[in-house]
Amino acid sequence: MLYTFQSVNPRTYRLLLMVGAIALFCMLCLVLLRSGYLQITISAAALLLGVWSVGLLGLLIAGDNEDWLRSRALTFGKAVWCNLGIVTTALLVPDPIRLLLLVAPLFGVLFTALHLDRSQMLVVSAVTWLSYLAGVLLLLHFGVADVRSELLMGLAFTGMLAIMVVMASEVTALKTAFERRRDSLNQAMEQLAELAMRDELTGLYNRRYIMDVLERQKALADRGHVGFTLCYCDLDHFKRINDQHGHQTGDRALRDFAEVARSVVRSVDYVARLGGEEFLLLLTGADAEAAHAVARRLCERSRALEVIGADPDFRLTASVGIASYRSGERVEDVIHRADQALYAAKAAGRDRIVIGE
Ligand code: GH3
Ligand code: MG
Ligand code: MG
Repeated sequence: MLYTFQSVNPRTYRLLLMVGAIALFCMLCLVLLRSGYLQITISAAALLLGVWSVGLLGLLIAGDNEDWLRSRALTFGKAVWCNLGIVTTALLVPDPIRLLLLVAPLFGVLFTALHLDRSQMLVVSAVTWLSYLAGVLLLLHFGVADVRSELLMGLAFTGMLAIMVVMASEVTALKTAFERRRDSLNQAMEQLAELAMRDELTGLYNRRYIMDVLERQKALADRGHVGFTLCYCDLDHFKRINDQHGHQTGDRALRDFAEVARSVVRSVDYVARLGGEEFLLLLTGADAEAAHAVARRLCERSRALEVIGADPDFRLTASVGIASYRSGERVEDVIHRADQALYAAKAAGRDRIVIGE
């Protein structure tokens, strides 16, 4: 959406626009009537103006925007209605002034191009032209217009409208190109943001992202909200897997383990690959005992994995160190305690879970 007067509050802008357009048009009609240019009676003018104003107000309130006062958007109905009003007025005044008044619906077309799409702009232009044509035919029918001057005036108006339609088409083309570019930029930014938080091989969160999450969880826990427990996992003898079965099989084992890790946690938890064959599970609101149950499931399922490319009797095992966050400590401290517990699990023979102090 293209906005004008960006600094003005949308609600005020909408009200000003509505009141301003109606007041301006009423004043114009009054001036034309007083100066004898409007070739109808006062009561007919009042009736036409009343119908137009009430119609515009109705369109503004019941328009296609539910929150009509907040939106700056020009709607299709309003554009058509405004142009019909000004064309009708133009048809009721003599030639030179009519031509001047007919400039207004041309701006209406341009305004439509800024706010609506090309097909709507074309319909507004067509309705404007057809309403002018119908009005002229009516005037000729009642014998209150001269055929030659109407022909000239009609040609002039048609020419001006055609030029405006070409210009407005360019505006809509520019607008569409701009919107497409903006959408693809937004999409690219979303993809970049997603890439920046993910580990490329496994699709799990990466170290940078999980460190941010940990800081947020720490802040929440320190404010008395739920705490969290970490499971620091390290695959056992992973170097051997690469050496015996190749790097590709090693990669596959990492991806399989990541899938299993994702499957054992709840949706509120986080699983990250810290690097190499090291993973971190952040279990929110879980104590060490609950974390132990999760780690046990993880170890059982990874042991049961059949990694493609590895020997059938190959077992993917992991060692896990567990530490629960203690209020007030640093994120590095709780990670360090989980790492110490992991070290103890490795030292005790691997393929096991140790709860840290
Ligand atoms: P430990 O039981 O003591 O943890 O032994 P380990 O062999 O698992 O530990 P070590 O740190 O000696 O070796 C880790 C290996 O993980 C070394 C490296 O080749 C492998 N590795 C790290 N990142 C990747 C990766 O992205 N893909 C593959 N295939 N291997 C990786
Ligand atoms: Mg390691
Ligand atoms: Mg290892």
